[in-house]
Amino acid sequence: MYRIRFHGRGGQGMKTASRILGSAFFQQGYEVQDAPRYGAERRGAPVFAYVRAARRTIQERGIILEPDLVIVADDSLVPMPAAGVLQGVTPRTVLLISSGETPETWRHRLNIAGPLLTLQAEAAAGAEQHFVGTALAGAAARLVGVITLLALEQAVQLELAGLGGETLSSNLDQALAAYELMAPQAGLVSEGEALAAAAYQRPDWVELPLDEADAAAAAIHAGATSVEVRTGLWRTLRPVIDYQRCNRCWWVCSEFCPDSAIRVNAEHFPEIDYDHCKGCLICVAQCPAHAISAIPESSEAQP
Ligand code: SF4
Ligand code: SF4
Repeated sequence: MYRIRFHGRGGQGMKTASRILGSAFFQQGYEVQDAPRYGAERRGAPVFAYVRAARRTIQERGIILEPDLVIVADDSLVPMPAAGVLQGVTPRTVLLISSGETPETWRHRLNIAGPLLTLQAEAAAGAEQHFVGTALAGAAARLVGVITLLALEQAVQLELAGLGGETLSSNLDQALAAYELMAPQAGLVSEGEALAAAAYQRPDWVELPLDEADAAAAAIHAGATSVEVRTGLWRTLRPVIDYQRCNRCWWVCSEFCPDSAIRVNAEHFPEIDYDHCKGCLICVAQCPAHAISAIPESSEAQP
């Protein structure tokens, strides 16, 4: 059975990538599971999606703990424990990181001896970062070595049919280009062993007394604790205010910001609180003077 995990940030298309790869496996006659894991309003937050594919009925359920292939759309997630990118990685797990750095750099950095590849999927996708997932699905299809170009093409057409026109054809180009790029590594990913239920190690259960819901629910007595959650870490794109263009209609951007991350200073100019701005870019869309632009978080031009 193939077990594949896609890690990225909300908005980079990890759910779509897993659906495309799952559909491509299905076109090849495999039984498939694919599922994303994320909560509400997660743009920029770490999310993951996973795919299982096998020639027999898949009895396994739940999150993939021992992946054969791990794909990372945003390399800033690798060192972040909460993202769980390296969870369950074994010496036979193939790691594919979308990064401008070399595989050697990452191997040294992570002290990993197993197969590790990099792909500049973000650069290939240009400014439209939502194409990253499509490119990575194409790369994954080639790495498993059992998916034909035709099956990949049909899967992209099927899953992205709703986008239509130029967007669909641009995504298709990204997927097929990544598929070609991975040709030297075709078949690098091998199927993992089937997990026998008999070998399942029951975890050490912690028996908890059953409480009534009002007693069992978490109670936070301190006020205003949400400020401690640095949602600024979620951002992939950063809103930047051009104060030459800003006409100080602060009630627009500050009111529309869903996270109250835009303060107004004594001169009535808006200021963005980058510790808590999650990069939803609603302010960019709402600013009537077009004074707020979005730049990639990794850009050297950021202030
Ligand atoms: S909405 Fe735009 S122009 Fe108005 S205060 Fe905010 S940044 Fe400035
Ligand atoms: S509206 Fe603008 S400032 Fe507020 S969270 Fe979204 S991107 Fe950040």
